[in-house]
Amino acid sequence: MIRVGHGYDLHRLEPLTPVGQGKPFILGGICIEHDRGPVGHSDGDALLHAITDAILGALALPDIGQLFPDTDPRWAGKDSAHFLRHALELMREKKFEVCNLDATVICERPKIGPVKEKIKSHLAHLLGCHVGQINVKGKTHEHVDAVGEGRAIEVHCVALLTSI
Ligand code: MG
Repeated sequence: MIRVGHGYDLHRLEPLTPVGQGKPFILGGICIEHDRGPVGHSDGDALLHAITDAILGALALPDIGQLFPDTDPRWAGKDSAHFLRHALELMREKKFEVCNLDATVICERPKIGPVKEKIKSHLAHLLGCHVGQINVKGKTHEHVDAVGEGRAIEVHCVALLTSI
């Protein structure tokens, strides 16, 4: 049996604290040097949030916001790998594994290209699969709207799961 899931996330980007409310720019568990960062309850890792939701979605389970509400102080500043690991545990309980995963990161800056391979390797490690099963694409928003003006980052992810 195969199951497909889609995940989407957006985080506002602000100057780093204390100038703004931006946290260090972490994407797919990799910290990238940038003068702005995501505003969020956890560490604000939009890529890990979208991947987590794609896996949960494929399994028709409650989404990341339901499992880890942003009103719960336990998740304040939390490493988003924790949310992904939980989704993977639920996936294995249901006897599924990741077949492949394709994510699109949309942000004006920083550029994703130079760190793409590092992110993919880290994701493969987190997901316990081969790097060839993971794809991450970087796009800009052509300078329009909040994402294009550097005020937000958006991620879409599709995950295909196969039964073990
Ligand atoms: Mg999020």
